[in-house]
Amino acid sequence: MQKHKTEFDAIVVGSGPGGATVAMDLAKQGRKVLILEWGDNNPKKGTFSSMVTRALIPGRSAVMTSQGLPVIRAITTGGSSVIFCGTAFDPPVDMLKKYGVDISAEFEEMKGDLPMVPLPDELMGPGPKVFEESAGDIGFDVKRLIKFIDPSKCKLNCQRCMYGCPYGAKWDARDFVDKAIENGATLINHAKVNKVIIEDNKAVGVEYRNNKEIFLAYAPKIIIAAGGIGSPLILRESGMQSTGYDFFFDPLIFVYGKVKGLGCGKSVPMSSGIHFPEDGIVLTDFNLPRMMKVGFDLELLKVKQAFLYKDILPIMIKIRDGLGGTLTNNGWIKKPLSKNDVKRLDKGAEHAKRILKNAGATDIYKSWRTAAHPGGTVKIGEQLDSNLKTKFDNLYVCDCSVVPEEWGLPPTTTLVALGKRLAKHLFALESPTREEDLAISMPAFKQTDVTRLAAAVS
Ligand SMILES: Cc1cc2nc3c(=O)[nH]c(=O)nc-3n(C[C@H](O)[C@H](O)[C@H](O)COP(=O)(O)OP(=O)(O)OC[C@H]3O[C@@H](n4cnc5c(N)ncnc54)[C@H](O)[C@@H]3O)c2cc1C
Repeated sequence: MQKHKTEFDAIVVGSGPGGATVAMDLAKQGRKVLILEWGDNNPKKGTFSSMVTRALIPGRSAVMTSQGLPVIRAITTGGSSVIFCGTAFDPPVDMLKKYGVDISAEFEEMKGDLPMVPLPDELMGPGPKVFEESAGDIGFDVKRLIKFIDPSKCKLNCQRCMYGCPYGAKWDARDFVDKAIENGATLINHAKVNKVIIEDNKAVGVEYRNNKEIFLAYAPKIIIAAGGIGSPLILRESGMQSTGYDFFFDPLIFVYGKVKGLGCGKSVPMSSGIHFPEDGIVLTDFNLPRMMKVGFDLELLKVKQAFLYKDILPIMIKIRDGLGGTLTNNGWIKKPLSKNDVKRLDKGAEHAKRILKNAGATDIYKSWRTAAHPGGTVKIGEQLDSNLKTKFDNLYVCDCSVVPEEWGLPPTTTLVALGKRLAKHLFALESPTREEDLAISMPAFKQTDVTRLAAAVS
């Protein structure tokens, strides 16, 4: 059994884009950071089997909603960014400003830390090219999307973004975790945090399980960044019962068509897209990996289609769903789609069909629904103040759960910017001008060894 004799300035729980950013920025400023991550830190091999172990284990990384929508997240260092498509949408700066949160400066800063460019023509596979041409031909405002991808390392006709890019082309939050470690942070994997230790209304540490044993770790700042599903579960155990309600999860479907002569079905997914902000709909090309397509087709018993891959052009339709639902204490999601949500999905599917037909596609069909961005479970303005602080002193949240309103776009850019802002806020708290505040709000530094509490938890 490993014992950790370290003193920490901050504990970050979860290493997705939100947590990894705060951890990196704190470590770069010389703070001693402990990152506790539930998942593994195995190398990214870019294989389907590695995606299965990280993101498709029922009840752990994949949950089925009450209406049968699979919702997946990756439990691994880097969180869901390891399997994400690497598309960078601008943050909802104006929406967040309404809540006293301005991330415009941090959004500009992050552009220096990350590859954020559209894919060049030579990396556009045949599917995305046809999508772009056909949508433009119809008159849709189709745009090349910004990617967290370094084109110089990306490969044409590769499709391993969602299996965990093995070439270092797609940025993911592991990059920030590595930088945090280079700057002195400690990462403990297979460390599942159960709850925050609260004393006199102040967070002083966390309880976590590692290799079937329970440990305690202490620090004067605790940042929960376990994602839209993980964070509310930890916070409920810590005395914040109101978390995990009225959230969004950005439902999506695929519409497929067969375009004769299209050829290879492989390419970077979400290279180009169309946004209908009023309708809350986004359409993109989406060459999903073969095994994922097989899974989606078999879900609807489309056995014949499951084995067609060449010449197939998939289009993804993602919508802004209304807030609703309940997360159970076991992490299951009860969130029926509203009539309006279904209408939006149908409207998006009609747009996709037009694009496919215009491209000469036949055999057009729709997939079942899924969802990929659970958030809004610990909202700014409700459970958090504008500095992402909870009702407990020294306890912060920084991940997709903090987004206060349904928004409908992939959130990673926003989470990185929020992480940078939170790290700055934590430094500001340490500044001499705030000494008085600190005397009131900070407990005496309680940095003891990580302590083994009990053994043999099944
Ligand atoms: C298939 C797919 C494609 C996507 N494509 C895009 C895209 O193109 N662009 C985009 O912007 N977004 C995309 N997303 C969404 C994006 O990946 C997530 O919104 C983002 O990763 C969320 O970051 P986070 O920090 O909130 O949480 P996560 O990335 O979920 O990270 C949370 C971390 O906390 C850990 N954790 C959970 N519980 C505990 C616990 N109790 N103790 C310790 N650790 C814990 C998890 O293992 C994980 O590492 C995609 C998502 C999926 C699933």
